Amino acid sequence: MGIKKGNPDERKLAWHHKVHFIEVFKGMAYTFKMMFKPSVTVEYPEEKWTPNDEFRGRPVLVLEKDKERCVACGLCARSCPPLAISMQAAETDDDKERYPLTFEINMLRCIYCGYCEEVCPEEAIVMSKDYDFTFTNRKDAIFDKTKLLVKKEDLQPRLQFLEKKRNPIFGKIFKFLTVNNRHSWKDRASKN
Ligand code: SF4
Ligand code: SF4
Repeated sequence: MGIKKGNPDERKLAWHHKVHFIEVFKGMAYTFKMMFKPSVTVEYPEEKWTPNDEFRGRPVLVLEKDKERCVACGLCARSCPPLAISMQAAETDDDKERYPLTFEINMLRCIYCGYCEEVCPEEAIVMSKDYDFTFTNRKDAIFDKTKLLVKKEDLQPRLQFLEKKRNPIFGKIFKFLTVNNRHSWKDRASKN
C-alpha cells in the first residue's frame, strides 16, 4: 500500500495566498500611512497617563465624612479570586453597627478584576485610577487602611461612572448609589 502525501485535511491555498509579499507590502503601506498621523504613545514614566473613569486601577476604600463606608461584611473578600483581601470586623455604636478594624489588600495578589467593587453592597470599595506604584519588598505590598482609604470627593468620577453604567443593567436587582450609603437591604427598601 502506497503512503499518501500531505494531510487530507490541509487547507488548499489559492495562488494569492501563497504569495506572501502582498501581505508584507500591505503591512508596510499601513506602517508608512501611520508615520504621518499624530503619535498615540506616551513616554512613560516621564510622561504620566491619566486614565478614563472606566479604568480599573488599584481598589480603594471610600472615606465619607471621615468614616469608611465599609461595614466589614466580607463579601469582597469572599468574591476575590486570588484571596487578596482580608479584614477584621468590629462593632460600632453608630447606625452602621460594624466597621473594619483592619482591612488589607495584598497588591501582589490583586489582579484588578473589579469583583470586589461589583459585589460591595455599600459602594464602599471602588477601582481607582491609581496604577503607578511599586514595592521593594512583600511587606510594603500589603496595603492597609492608611493606604486604602480615599475621600469620596476624590472618587466621585468613578462613583458617577458606576451609577451611570451599572444601573441600566443591574438597577432592578441592586441600585448603585453615589450619594447614599445605607447599611442594609432593609434600610434601602424602606427609604427608596
Ligand atoms: S480587584 Fe479583584 S483581585 Fe483585586 S482585590 Fe478586588 S476582587 Fe480581589
Ligand atoms: S463588600 Fe464592601 S462593605 Fe463588605 S467588606 Fe467589602 S468593602 Fe466592606
